[in-house]
Amino acid sequence: MVIAQWFRRLRMRRPLPGAAEASSRPSGLEGRATGYGRPGGTRVAFVSAFVALSFGSVPLSADLAAAQSASAAPHQQVPSPIARPPLATQPVDPPAQVSSVGDVADDAVARQLFGRAPTPAPLEARSIGSYARGCLAGAVPLAVDGPAWQAMRLSRNRNWGHPALVAYLQDLAVAGRQSEGWNGLLVGDLSQPRGGPMLTGHRSHQIGLDADIWLTPMPDWTLSRQEREELSATSMLREGTRQIDPNRWTEQHARIIRRAASDDRVARIFVHPAIKEQLCRWEQPSADRQWLRRVRPWYGHHYHFHIRLSCPAGMDGCENQNPPPAGDGCGEELAWWLGPEPWAPSDTPARPRRETTLADLPSACRQVLVSN
Ligand SMILES: [Zn+2]
Repeated sequence: MVIAQWFRRLRMRRPLPGAAEASSRPSGLEGRATGYGRPGGTRVAFVSAFVALSFGSVPLSADLAAAQSASAAPHQQVPSPIARPPLATQPVDPPAQVSSVGDVADDAVARQLFGRAPTPAPLEARSIGSYARGCLAGAVPLAVDGPAWQAMRLSRNRNWGHPALVAYLQDLAVAGRQSEGWNGLLVGDLSQPRGGPMLTGHRSHQIGLDADIWLTPMPDWTLSRQEREELSATSMLREGTRQIDPNRWTEQHARIIRRAASDDRVARIFVHPAIKEQLCRWEQPSADRQWLRRVRPWYGHHYHFHIRLSCPAGMDGCENQNPPPAGDGCGEELAWWLGPEPWAPSDTPARPRRETTLADLPSACRQVLVSN
């Protein structure tokens, strides 16, 4: 009952104590908003071929050895991403020229500034503020290619994170390949070089602790830059339904998500409710089901899952969310998600959001913006 009320409030778009789960994306279309998926697109078959190929050939022992040694060493041998011009479909305004704190008006639109910062702020690494209202100092890039991952959509310049996130992703990629039969991670958006609000897509991903991982496993070859732009992720749902497509969902999907969620660095993982249901059924009743508590049903998230780390220990000014409710989340809450209520059209039209200005962000984000 309490849960039902909670979600009703959420749908009415009132801010909740501790902030809404994925920072309230009401429409259920993160696949579209984040640009990984192309519902009904012709590339699905191509990507399905990746799935078959990848699972048909994992893991090669030589690759495993490489993955093992690479997990200990930093990945300096691979190029770091560089700032690239925006895609033609994105605004092509000149980069904001910001050189001192005084240059920036309080009412400056934050995403126009952070969305065009091409490089990280050379400061001590720090996640400042909350997942959907903050910024990132001292970001490091996730290497474009690693022993068990490839970064996608390089033109967005969003493969930057707090060093703790990059380390986590490297660990997950290598462990997933070694132990879970998951060939490697195709990594979608992390954060911008200085975090903050984005020109397009996500509301969260602002403090370098969020990452999107495609539900398409990595192919056995290195994708070209163009493939990384144009390839679509694979939806786990049967077209036009909210049900899992059993031809696409595999045990390895369940295992990589369990591996991701079993790590104590993780606060939450967002997946589509149908995926949560699948995981609830898959995990043994007698097993330790604590990891399921962190796997949270949310709109979208059937082309990718979204990993959110907790604030690194002792980091002042980094705001954690409240922990998820106790239990594995496979009962009443999931039943609500599987019912019609979350998907019914809202009777009140969504009011346009006011733009987030610099004054809305923690004051330390000003320094992040101007440090060079
Ligand atoms: Zn995400």
